Amino acid sequence: MNTEIKDEKLIIIGGGPAGLTSAIYATRAGLNPLVLMGPEPGGQITTTPWLENFPGFPEGISGPDLMQKVIQQAGNLGVRLIYEMVNSVDFSKRPYMINTADITYQAKTVIVATGASHRRLGLKNEGKLAGRGISYCATCDGAFFRDKNVAIVGGGDVALEEANYLTRFASKVYIIHRRNQFRGTKILADRVKENPKIEIVWDSIVKEIQGEKKLNGLLLENKKTNEKRKLGVEGFFIAIGHIPNSALFKGQLELDEKAYIITDDNYMTNKEGIFAAGDVRDSRYRQVVTAAGVGAMAAIEVERLIDS
Ligand code: NAP
Repeated sequence: MNTEIKDEKLIIIGGGPAGLTSAIYATRAGLNPLVLMGPEPGGQITTTPWLENFPGFPEGISGPDLMQKVIQQAGNLGVRLIYEMVNSVDFSKRPYMINTADITYQAKTVIVATGASHRRLGLKNEGKLAGRGISYCATCDGAFFRDKNVAIVGGGDVALEEANYLTRFASKVYIIHRRNQFRGTKILADRVKENPKIEIVWDSIVKEIQGEKKLNGLLLENKKTNEKRKLGVEGFFIAIGHIPNSALFKGQLELDEKAYIITDDNYMTNKEGIFAAGDVRDSRYRQVVTAAGVGAMAAIEVERLIDS
């Protein structure tokens, strides 16, 4: 049980693009926020190999480099970053309580920016072989598969970007998609279609992940023909979207049917003084630039609330 209680004016939960942009704005507004960085400092974008759509970087920038710059910028402005995890919260009354392993923080205003996590396929062996051929992050693990055959499942931007990235290392990349049209942007889809190292497996789902101590293959099923096919691959990347990191707030904040936090036009949740920004409240856009934008707006709304 944690004993120490610390008073804060504004706590920001999450250290990705939304949380850190909130922190930069709030610090410049004199609110002296405390950022609890959580399990993935820099956020999900640190697993993205390359961004071409974040303004200000004409040649593009890698996710880790972008977030390193943002963390450095926050540090230069005097933002207080604490590398701690939040274990539980009590938002039943103000001031709100936020518990880490050793400390309880209390604050009248909070910005929740806990982001989202990789969705899992839910297949047998998925957990057992994670890190033994199965990965959710091509940037992190792609280089382990030099000159090997790998597969990636998904049809969104992440799967398309990662399929292209994986061709730097792998000898062959299969991209498995459950439909015959990609969900991701055309420019990325065209790159995948034109890449000679990529084979697209349309209309197919992964039925089995095979291997005992490490991955040795996948069993696919074509949804139109019911035909089964074995793919001999040593790497399998799962890029089928995300789920919001809102479990901590269940029963405390209003969530929608997909567990995203519901906010009003000012990014305030159903609790006075608690705001949400970034992927934990956004099932629609989920861009770094929109997460950062809402982070900035949430911080401005906190400032207005405190001044009112
Ligand atoms: P996404 O756009 O939700 O795509 C998920 C893909 O996985 C879809 O093609 C979906 O198929 C497939 N899928 C979902 N569940 C599946 C299952 N159980 N089995 C097989 N396939 C399954 O997710 P994402 O690619 O992770 O992208 C998330 C968001 O991040 C997007 O809005 C994207 O634009 C954004 N993003 C932004 C940046 C940036 O800011 N620069 C970079 C990368 C991505 P269906 O198509 O059939 O539904």
